[in-house]
Amino acid sequence: MNRMDFNKLKLNSDGLLPVVTQDYSSNEVLMVAYMNKEAFNKTIETKKVHYFSRSRQSLWLKGETSGHYQHLVSMALDCDNDTLLVKVKQEGAACHTGNYSCFYKNIDIDNKEVLESSELQQKKQNVFEIFEEVYNVIADRKENPKEGSYTNYLFDKGIDKILKKVGEESAEVIIGAKNEGNDEIIYEISDLIYHLSVLMVEKNTTWEDICKELNKRR
Ligand code: AMP
Ligand code: ZN
Ligand code: ZN
Ligand code: ZN
Repeated sequence: MNRMDFNKLKLNSDGLLPVVTQDYSSNEVLMVAYMNKEAFNKTIETKKVHYFSRSRQSLWLKGETSGHYQHLVSMALDCDNDTLLVKVKQEGAACHTGNYSCFYKNIDIDNKEVLESSELQQKKQNVFEIFEEVYNVIADRKENPKEGSYTNYLFDKGIDKILKKVGEESAEVIIGAKNEGNDEIIYEISDLIYHLSVLMVEKNTTWEDICKELNKRR
């Protein structure tokens, strides 16, 4: 084992270290950028990935304007110490176009056509993040009602309407489970979780409360 010394790395002709950045869980390649010694040290110090911006010729904290920070998970050097691999937890999207990865321009290798996927790739999220996001949107609707919002319609009608919907959606889950295929049950469980989330907001209960209770049962 050697101590990592930035000065011993083989830098490119611009004096920079190429960095390949990957999603730590899926290994999807997110972007390629460059670091200088300052960016490298700042990344290790703060655990937020910093690069050296070639266009601005300055230190670049990825996410400083977009909020799409990259939380450092691991780093590796390649065989000849001229390229760094960084694995991150990506907030939002890595690419400034809104695509999760910068590499969304597929090249058809038979006729050299570039096929830009027009649809933005969906960010891969863990289950809990999505539950919390849904909850937070519902809580925000309660605070700041929005014209034409179904969630606000439920809050306005009150607790009995919300409970009635939870009952209905539970019944629909049961019916969905009896039918062929999984599409219907996925749809109905999503409906149920949404309505349960409305109920949770109405009753000032959080996912944290639910998790604590479930943890107790292990
Ligand atoms: P951000 O660091 O995400 O706040 O983005 C700041 C600026 O950096 C953007 O306006 C882009 O010009 C540039 N940028 C952000 N992400 C990328 C990327 N993945 N590749 C190249 N440039 C980027
Ligand atoms: Zn190499
Ligand atoms: Zn990009
Ligand atoms: Zn339903």
